[in-house]
Amino acid sequence: METTDVVIVGAGHGGAQCAIALRQNGFTGTITVVGREPEYPYERPPLSKEYFAREKTFDRLYIRPPTFWAEKDVTFKLSTEVTKVDAEAKELTLSNGTTLSYGKLVWATGGDPRRLSCSGAELAGVHAVRTREDCDTLMAEVDAGTKNIVVIGGGYIGLEAAAVLSKLKLNVTLLEALPRVLARVAGEELSEFYQKEHRDHGVDLRTGVAVDCLVGDGPEGNRRVTGVQLADGEVVPAEAVIVGIGIVPAIGPLIAAGASGANGVDVDEFCRTSLPDIYAIGDCAAFACDYAGGTVMRVESVQNANDMATCVAKAICGDEKAYKAFPWFWSNQYDLRLQTAGINMGFDKTVIRGEPGARSFSVVYLKEGRVVALDCVNAVKDYVQGRKLVEAGAAPDVAALADAGTPLKELL
Ligand SMILES: Cc1cc2nc3c(=O)[nH]c(=O)nc-3n(C[C@H](O)[C@H](O)[C@H](O)COP(=O)(O)OP(=O)(O)OC[C@H]3O[C@@H](n4cnc5c(N)ncnc54)[C@H](O)[C@@H]3O)c2cc1C
Repeated sequence: METTDVVIVGAGHGGAQCAIALRQNGFTGTITVVGREPEYPYERPPLSKEYFAREKTFDRLYIRPPTFWAEKDVTFKLSTEVTKVDAEAKELTLSNGTTLSYGKLVWATGGDPRRLSCSGAELAGVHAVRTREDCDTLMAEVDAGTKNIVVIGGGYIGLEAAAVLSKLKLNVTLLEALPRVLARVAGEELSEFYQKEHRDHGVDLRTGVAVDCLVGDGPEGNRRVTGVQLADGEVVPAEAVIVGIGIVPAIGPLIAAGASGANGVDVDEFCRTSLPDIYAIGDCAAFACDYAGGTVMRVESVQNANDMATCVAKAICGDEKAYKAFPWFWSNQYDLRLQTAGINMGFDKTVIRGEPGARSFSVVYLKEGRVVALDCVNAVKDYVQGRKLVEAGAAPDVAALADAGTPLKELL
């Protein structure tokens, strides 16, 4: 049986960064990365942004050029899935029937797109946006003449996709079940701003609408979506549907092996799971987040995947330190660059700096008077300076905070 010192499962952001950081930190043992997708690690964010809009080609998405991995002596098993973990024997079963034993295991599998539970969810023309393949299939349908597209879910990915498609002059309807878009991640001010932006760009954005089912036609076994039926009976016509309603952490084999976890695999402050010599990082890992008052949560961001990966790589190299990285995120829609700092969980007050109408402003989130997070739209200075307020747990004067003329660095 093949034996590897470190096996990384998942060739995405976290997996790639873990291999990179292991070598950067002087690790000389063997490293194998097992990845379900056929590609070497690539950046996922452009799938709903520049790659989807054809502003970037795929070769510009690689986290490192494919030749890099051989130079660093990192072995890849691509188009291969880990189907079983035996934590006692320290052995993995792969989808090609072979086994692989490990010294340390790093689980970096991200998540699978959550599927609609209503009828019609399996029709051709219904897409997620998680992988290059998802994106290419969708782009091919747009090229083939799709005119009407429905996006289900008003989270960042759905909104970004809607922005690209409306720029491509498609008829875009965006359906959000909750009373506002971005309801789980942002305050009302930001939701309202983006709702208006999308409507101004011609997106038929509807909130508080329940999807009843997807309708389609065609021969049995090859039925294609033709529309989305709402709870009130209206059918919104669609030759294609994007479902952006979140992910389900890809942790099945690890949980089956006895790891603790439910919505994500539980990890401690060193990213260790409850199983010996098995770490978990990135979208699939649930940890007590310092920046959210110790709440156990999963954070779906490139920053979190990369920083957890580096933390684990260092630990494997003997430099074990608790994971405490500062959370940040971004989203591009139209000509708007949103940058977020911190986590706004449990905020009890928001302060607006600048003018949403001028399309450059920030929402500052406070909890018991302290700055816990910022959402900065086309406001880079606020983002750069505001991060420091979050890190310091600053409690600035609210009037000064609301005055866009007062630089945030003066409020530290
Ligand atoms: C369209 C889109 C836009 C995004 N935009 C942003 C953004 O603007 N900013 C931001 O910070 N974040 C963004 N994100 C989120 C960000 O991409 C993720 O947080 C990040 O990719 C998480 O990294 P990861 O390593 O945990 O998982 P992933 O990068 O998802 O990698 C996991 C890999 O593991 C593979 N895998 C799963 N199970 C197995 C198995 N059993 N065996 C082998 N391989 C397996 C998966 O196929 C996948 O390739 C976006 C995500 C998407 C999909």
